[in-house]
Amino acid sequence: MLSLILRLIHMVQPLIIPLCLITAWVFILMLVSSVIAMIIDVIKRSKKMHQIPCSHCQYFTNDYRLKCPVNPFQANTELAINCKDYHIREN
Ligand code: SF4
Repeated sequence: MLSLILRLIHMVQPLIIPLCLITAWVFILMLVSSVIAMIIDVIKRSKKMHQIPCSHCQYFTNDYRLKCPVNPFQANTELAINCKDYHIREN
């Protein structure tokens, strides 16, 4: 039984190094692609968040209890993009 296992190991041994190399490169490529996908997602998300106009709106209170009396559930969310009640703040 032991000799059979040793024989099997000797047969598989030339394949182990290329298999480990391929596996390592697959893991590295998966890691790099997930990091790139995460960076692209963060950039897309930040561009979307910068489209929210509330911080420049005259109805924005900057109070966490009631951010906007006109649209309280939309204020500072993606729903506020293209808000029809938006009026630029005049200081
Ligand atoms: S009116 Fe619209 S744009 Fe202005 S603060 Fe409220 S939700 Fe934001």
